[in-house]
Amino acid sequence: GKAYESMAQLSMFLVTAVVSGLVAFVFASRTESQRQALERLATLDSLTGVPNRRAMEQELQIAVAEHRREGTAYGLAMLDLDHFKGINDEHGHEAGDEVLIAFARLVACSTRKVDRIFRFGGEEFVLLMPATHVDGLHAIDASVRARVAEQLDCRGRAVTVSIGAASLRPDEDWQAWMSRADAALYMAKRQGRNRTVV
Ligand code: GH3
Ligand code: MG
Ligand code: MG
Repeated sequence: GKAYESMAQLSMFLVTAVVSGLVAFVFASRTESQRQALERLATLDSLTGVPNRRAMEQELQIAVAEHRREGTAYGLAMLDLDHFKGINDEHGHEAGDEVLIAFARLVACSTRKVDRIFRFGGEEFVLLMPATHVDGLHAIDASVRARVAEQLDCRGRAVTVSIGAASLRPDEDWQAWMSRADAALYMAKRQGRNRTVV
């Protein structure tokens, strides 16, 4: 009768509700775990498109291992844009973002194909240079630092970069190597910025 019909309708409704709820739950948790997996795999910086710090750590480890095994010379440079906070303050965060994108592109164009640029974080970048000795490190002052000063600008105002560089020593790990490059960068800043210290 009528009572039986509405009971059947009610249970159909309940079954449909439960099933669609379950399906939604399964899909939602799947996309969340897939998002997390992608996050772990991600090696590119989303703003500039260049490899990020995670990728850099892997490449530096490989460089150190190869240096120990084959004696390949490696150079490392830390690049930090000068007075970048001022650019943001004066022209806004978006203008600052555009400078970072243009900077990464300019460095990639100004170096060899084998050289790798990474975004270390904020307005700091790392350049890894295989088959590069001390003279090659000095050369980036003309090919990268000077070119940035000439070509990079924000609303008509020149943007400059300070660079600290170090060549890999046989006895050190990548952290020690990087802190020597960072110490050189600190000196470049102290000496007045827009310069390279090797
Ligand atoms: P210095 O010459 O000593 O390097 O001075 P600085 O102003 O460049 O250095 P500081 O470390 O004081 O400031 C870095 C600024 O970079 C602060 C921060 O807001 C900005 N910044 C970091 N990441 C981003 C980003 O992704 N986009 C933009 N627009 N700004 C960023
Ligand atoms: Mg900085
Ligand atoms: Mg800076």
